[in-house]
Amino acid sequence: MRKRVIGNWKMNGTIADLPKIAQIAAAVMRYPNVDSGLCLPATLISAAHAYSPQLQIGGQDCHMQEAGAHTGCISAAMLLDAGASMVILGHSECRAEQGQSDADVRAKALAAMQSNLFAIICVGESEAQRDLGNAEKVVLDQIEGSLPDICDAAMLCVAYEPIWAIGTGRIPSSQDVENMHGAIRSRLIERQGEGGKNIGILYGGSMNGENAGELMAIPNVDGGLIGGASLLMEKFEPILAAANIEDII
Ligand code: PEP
Repeated sequence: MRKRVIGNWKMNGTIADLPKIAQIAAAVMRYPNVDSGLCLPATLISAAHAYSPQLQIGGQDCHMQEAGAHTGCISAAMLLDAGASMVILGHSECRAEQGQSDADVRAKALAAMQSNLFAIICVGESEAQRDLGNAEKVVLDQIEGSLPDICDAAMLCVAYEPIWAIGTGRIPSSQDVENMHGAIRSRLIERQGEGGKNIGILYGGSMNGENAGELMAIPNVDGGLIGGASLLMEKFEPILAAANIEDII
């Protein structure tokens, strides 16, 4: 499977950052074996799409309805209209700060699919849940609750992001990543049959140029969702390079 490397700019970036986005777009073009892109604040999507049309751009959330009385919200169709081709859904920050449930995430994923946006559906356990030995159950329950019944690799991928690894510089052991990605793969195959073998499973949480090669080499790690290290081309490019090398091997 080709690796996928997606940057998540979170609530960072203004029009003044368009040249930085263009630098990242140029880096992305240097690694044609990797499916990559940047998920930007909604306010930047249209301008970034015009400034760097070769870059795949995504949103970071969308509403489950197509339009209506939902002040402050953005629909999947609006993201598409602005130039996005994908959207992150169910990020742990959205689940925690906005109380998004698995059912919400599933409804958003259906809306994204209806608008032909590729969905990156995030799951992951808290540190307390891992310490209690519940990490796998928590993550598999999120998979069950957040993914539409009918889905395939062309519509979505999963991002396994242990909450305690996001932005902390801490990452799980390779064995823990292998176990979790293996459990997610088995569940995807149980749910979707043979098609479950092709659904990408990204790892997210403090991935950087130093650890990307090792993480990407773990079975069933099909790429990365990258926060902090996606903000600058100099930090993002080594991750693209690690993904590209794995693809060639
Ligand atoms: C994220 O927020 O999706 C993420 C992976 O962040 P970071 O890479 O900064 O840990």
